[in-house]
Amino acid sequence: MADAPGFDPGDPRLPERLWRKGLQWLSMGGEHTLVSSQQRKITQVNLVALLGAALALVTSLAFWSSGNAALLRGGWLHSPFAVLYPLVWLLNRQGRPFLAQWVFFLLAMAQILLNIFCVQGTALALHYYLLALAIMTPLIFPAGQWRSGAILFIVNVSLFIYMDLRGVAALPALTLIDLGTQALLREVVVGSCLILFVLLLSVSEYAAAMSEWRLQQLASSDALTGLPNRLALREAFAREVARRKRESGAMSFATADIDFFKRVNDEWGHDAGDRALCHVSSILRAQVRAGELVARTGGEEFGIILLAEPELAERAAERMCRAVEASPFEYDGKKRTITISIGLVHMDLADDERSASRRADAALYDAKHRGRNRVIVAPAEPPAQA
Ligand code: GH3
Ligand code: MG
Ligand code: MG
Repeated sequence: MADAPGFDPGDPRLPERLWRKGLQWLSMGGEHTLVSSQQRKITQVNLVALLGAALALVTSLAFWSSGNAALLRGGWLHSPFAVLYPLVWLLNRQGRPFLAQWVFFLLAMAQILLNIFCVQGTALALHYYLLALAIMTPLIFPAGQWRSGAILFIVNVSLFIYMDLRGVAALPALTLIDLGTQALLREVVVGSCLILFVLLLSVSEYAAAMSEWRLQQLASSDALTGLPNRLALREAFAREVARRKRESGAMSFATADIDFFKRVNDEWGHDAGDRALCHVSSILRAQVRAGELVARTGGEEFGIILLAEPELAERAAERMCRAVEASPFEYDGKKRTITISIGLVHMDLADDERSASRRADAALYDAKHRGRNRVIVAPAEPPAQA
């Protein structure tokens, strides 16, 4: 069945692959929890810690090369943070995300406040970073730790408002910078706040799409054979029935069941039984065309959607029986022939999943009674009485 458009981890395009590689690296530490929303928070904290370290390094280098005495001092104040932020990443890797979240906030606030009070004051709009930190709190702290988020939100917003209203004086040397450069530095501060945000939101959206995709895979596939499960079959069935109403294409539905499967378990053990199921699954899967579907619907039963004219669908079902019979199952150096029986229904427009399954099951029952290893086509339903 065609996948719904959206996130696809199999997308081979280079930017997608780079995104995924980067995200894998950023999500380190997430292996300590199975809760996907917490894994996402860990990724976000790693990202802001990484960006914090990069910003501290770039700012230090830029300030050192400025030649201005105040900025030179600022450069020295920023530089230690380039090595302190990676601690956040280490804490996440050790499975201490809550501490990592707090350490990130405390480091960021210390860096901003030190530079405001010891160098720049509010002249270069550095206090806007406090506002950015406040808005980041719900992205960084999970819902269960809302108290920490609320405390940091209130503290950062209060500090921002206080500084914006009162202003903090800068070192006198800062006034030596010409007004144009000062304005440019302010733009850089506000612009980098915005970039930080967009990156944080993008990574969060991407990580959410990835975990949603993983959960969807888990919910719709069978753990043993990797085939779609009954739920996925139901959804595909509903999609195909709706499509047929629009486009009126042919559709058949088959129920396949392994013959005397209990004997495989009884004679060769349950592990051999499991492997035999995988063996039959891969043969059946190889027999359907793109757009068709083989699902494992129960123990040793499969539901198959075939999108072909009745005659071709019958041939396809027959081919499945012959293919299983012709590929002996090997286990522990022994071989045995496995066969399947199939009940096939050519769908009427009035058929839904329930009626098609009922008719296919009846045909399968017939196939078992007539000696197994065969396809029986369900008789057409008599037209409903008006
Ligand atoms: P028939 O030809 O009438 O279908 O006979 P059968 O032996 O295949 O049918 P029956 O329903 O009596 O037995 C089905 C067996 O499938 C019973 C159960 O132990 C086995 N089975 C169901 N699910 C699994 C599974 O996941 N792994 C293994 N190894 N066996 C399974
Ligand atoms: Mg069986
Ligand atoms: Mg059965």
